[in-house]
Amino acid sequence: MAGKHLVDQLPIGVLALQGDFREHLHVLQQLGETAVAVKTPEQLEHIAGLIIPGGESSVIDKLARLYGLAGPIRSAISGGLPVYGTCAGLIMLADTVLDAIEGQQSFGGLDIVVRRNAFGSQTDSFETDLVVPELGEVPVRAVFIRAPVVISMGPDVRALATLDDGRVVAVAQGTLMGTSFHPEITGDTRFHEYFVSRVRSSS
Ligand code: GLN
Repeated sequence: MAGKHLVDQLPIGVLALQGDFREHLHVLQQLGETAVAVKTPEQLEHIAGLIIPGGESSVIDKLARLYGLAGPIRSAISGGLPVYGTCAGLIMLADTVLDAIEGQQSFGGLDIVVRRNAFGSQTDSFETDLVVPELGEVPVRAVFIRAPVVISMGPDVRALATLDDGRVVAVAQGTLMGTSFHPEITGDTRFHEYFVSRVRSSS
């Protein structure tokens, strides 16, 4: 019970090495959450959950290793910290990354294979409405920007949303979740609310 109280008071962190972390901080604040930009291993110890933003996964990887955050993030993930990755963040959570650059590493944790830039240069960016049963009947407007797609997933992974052609673009497994797209830029806060509810019920 004391543990639960403590987690209730901890802020939600947003990994702030590169990418659109400001947008995520803004959405969390909109929801009345205390949100903190995470740049050091120490900050990682004082959060109830973590969002890994969109951006460029190879750069996030390099900076995470440079700042000594990669190891602590992996430990936090295996220790059960709730984490939500969007786009590049989903790539960082994937156990296996296809079309990675030479030497690129992910944090891992999600038992999935993702392909980077899966929609090719013909369709760099696009928007579509997605049915996400977990979030109610109103479809979610999803913005894809040089987005990854989930190629395959292990038995413990749940698909939260698929494109019309059946490709998986949102997943959850245990305390982890990820989307190929960017809910932080649409004004629809339901994915963040869903993550916050997972964070606050995880202790
Ligand atoms: N293509 C980027 C990557 O590989 C992801 C793009 C994004 O986060 N919008 O990391």
